[in-house]
Amino acid sequence: MEFANFFFGDEISSVGNRKLNWVIDYDNKETFTGKLGEKSRPGRTIPTKGMISIYLQSNLLNDPKKLYIVIDHELVHANDLDDGNYSKWAKLYPLQVNIIFEYRAYLWSAQAEAGFGINLGQQTKLNELATQLPAGFLNR
Ligand SMILES: [Zn+2]
Repeated sequence: MEFANFFFGDEISSVGNRKLNWVIDYDNKETFTGKLGEKSRPGRTIPTKGMISIYLQSNLLNDPKKLYIVIDHELVHANDLDDGNYSKWAKLYPLQVNIIFEYRAYLWSAQAEAGFGINLGQQTKLNELATQLPAGFLNR
């Protein structure tokens, strides 16, 4: 993960007190999650005891901009899982917790996408999620 170290520095090795475990998901076991094979995602962040694992699809290694965007996105998830944001939202908004969780991450990945001047659908997804947030969420 030299690439990630260069661009993200120390943030790449831990969040809070938890180590980050980066895994290139060569067989797409963790990133290809649909039971019927319908859902493939470039990255996936899974908290485990004392550690947070981030799985990246191996095809990202061929596309540095996309890799950067996915790392950026998953790091937001890792931070929200570590600092208790996710648990807080799960209590306050049990039905929309994953909408909020993704909205936060897409805020960053949409910015990175715009910065690169490319369109990987991050902004589109962000706009879509914004319509599904709990009423008044952005004004709180
Ligand atoms: Zn996400």
